Order: sequence, then structure tokens, then C-alpha cells
Amino acid sequence: MKGHRGMRIDVLTIFPDLIRQALSCGIPGRAVDAGLVDVRAHDLRDHTDDLHRTVDDAPYGGGAGIVFKPEPIARALRGIALERPSGKVIFLTPEGKRLDQTMANRLSLEAHLVLLCGRYRGIDERIRERYVTHEISIGDYVLSGGEFAALVLIDAVVRLIPGAVGDAESALEDSFQNGLLDCPWYTRPPVFEGLSVPEVLLGGNHRLIAQWRREEAMKRTRERRPDLLEGQDVERER
Ligand code: SAM
Repeated sequence: MKGHRGMRIDVLTIFPDLIRQALSCGIPGRAVDAGLVDVRAHDLRDHTDDLHRTVDDAPYGGGAGIVFKPEPIARALRGIALERPSGKVIFLTPEGKRLDQTMANRLSLEAHLVLLCGRYRGIDERIRERYVTHEISIGDYVLSGGEFAALVLIDAVVRLIPGAVGDAESALEDSFQNGLLDCPWYTRPPVFEGLSVPEVLLGGNHRLIAQWRREEAMKRTRERRPDLLEGQDVERER
């Protein structure tokens, strides 16, 4: 089933509390409370079979560092699959496809996501071969673990689920949603430290305000991210 209500996200990690705590706040926290999304953090150590709950081992071939063993991950994934067979299994990795707003939009339509967080040198390659369906990176830098990457992905996706953001319109008007960066925003007071709010925003003419916002968004995009405009209809600039 694809849709919005009751999206489920399973996160496989050795730090489940990190995921739970981060998702207890703000929009993701409200979405969880409202039943729009069910996020379950699974401790990979619960799927080990030794006294020390070992999830890692030395790499074959030698070298520095350790690697996540395949068995605890496979057991955890099989447990989730038995319960909920259709999820996308996403490994967070700097080698994955870069997360962007288009990808977040697509993922927000899924009924079930499974997010796998690596640590150390990474995970045994055979898990990627056998179980992982998608690999996603949050940018060209290396984090010490996949948890913050998973949280970034969850936040970007969950806020797109209808009902998660109080004013649903605002999530759709954010940067990237229409191929542009956002326009500047102001609130009271009308003058702050000598800086005034643009006159047009105080005038109440909604047509002029919409036009101003669009022009400002276009100007900002042209200045900061001209790459976003490549291939876009030049008519849009008028
Ligand atoms: N050896 C790996 C490499 O060079 O690609 C990096 C391993 S990193 C220290 C440990 C884990 O953090 C990775 O397995 C991955 O789950 C996560 N991670 C690090 N950077 C990431 C990024 N940019 N996007 C998503 N996940 C990332």
C-alpha cells in the first residue's frame, strides 16, 4: 500500500536512543504523536548471539578499523520483513545517491522505509548485495555513523507528509520545491535596528506580494545557485 497515513520507518542502529530522542521533538515528534508516522529504532545488538553482543569484527585482508558483521543486520532485517515485507531497505552511506528534495518528495509517498546506519569502516558488503535496495548519502563528507544521516532523511521526508507541518502550504513553498531557493521572510517589527521591511509586504496587495516573492526567489537563486536554473523555462524569470 502506498500512501501517507501510517507511514512506517524502521531504523537499524547501535544507538537507538539517539534516534528516539531526536525524533521526540519538533515536527517529527508531532507527526509521530499524531500517528502519521511510526518510527521504530532497532538495536542491532539485540540481534547478536554472543554474550558480549558483538556487532563488529576485523576486516578480512587486514587494515585499520572494524566492520559491521553481516549476521545481526540480516537477522534484524528478516525480523522486520516477516512483519512488513514490502519496505525499501536504504543503507546510509557517503557512496550513495545524494539526498535532495526530489528524492525526499518521492520517499514521502512510501508506506515503509528501512534505514540501515553503518559505523566504523562500514558494513559487510554482502548485506548490500543481498538486502539493500537503495543507498543514500546526505552529502560529500564522512560522518562517524549513519544515525545523523538517517535523522536528516527522516526529517526531510516526514515534514512532507500531509498534516505533519501545521500550515501544509509552507512545506510546499520551501526552497527546492519549485526549483528555486526561498524568498526573504520578515515579521514584526516593521523597523529593526534601522532596517525596514520592504514596502510591498506592508501594502496588503496579494498579487504584488506574490510577484515580489517570486522575483526575490529568482534573484536569490540566480545569485547563489544558478545551477538550479539550468534547463528551466526562461519564461519563469519574467
Ligand atoms: N568507510 C566509509 C567510506 O569511506 O565511504 C565511511 C564509513 S563512516 C566512518 C561510517 C558510517 O557512517 C557509514 O557506514 C555510513 O552509514 C555513515 N555515513 C558517513 N558519512 C555519510 C554520509 N555522507 N551520508 C550517509 N551516511 C554516512
